[in-house]
Amino acid sequence: MINQRMQHLKSIIDKVKRNATSLSEVEAYEQQEAMIIREFLSHKLSSEQYEAKLNRLTHEPQRVICKTVEELKFVLDYLGVSEKEQQDLFEHEKAHFNEAKANGLQARFCLTFYRTASGFGLIPGTQVHATLLNTLSDDERRMGVRTSITAPKNMSEADMQMLL
Ligand SMILES: [Zn+2]
Repeated sequence: MINQRMQHLKSIIDKVKRNATSLSEVEAYEQQEAMIIREFLSHKLSSEQYEAKLNRLTHEPQRVICKTVEELKFVLDYLGVSEKEQQDLFEHEKAHFNEAKANGLQARFCLTFYRTASGFGLIPGTQVHATLLNTLSDDERRMGVRTSITAPKNMSEADMQMLL
């Protein structure tokens, strides 16, 4: 079962690399995502609307989604990302991921690929889902999303954008 999942991830990565487009196209998704989060945090979207909008972006063809830390590690190894780079990435993304889980929300690691002159580049991220499978109120979900965005010691530019 685990092997099947890993095989599936490999085939997704290969497809995503083949389909990779420019950085500017990928940045457009990132901006849309930040806007959806801002709208949710500022009460313009309900949890249900937030989930529906976020899920549409999740399935963009330039993205690989990892459900667990083990899957993310597998993907980064497969891509040949160095141990040092992995450590930095893990420290940051796991802070988002673990804080989301601690607040009763679901989190997914999200790797977005884009084409460069020498191959491809990668933007890592963590999506926090306002799962509807629990009894949290919309405001409790908003609080969980907010604290998971601010969880890493060094918030990124992209993280800050979500809170503007
Ligand atoms: Zn971040």
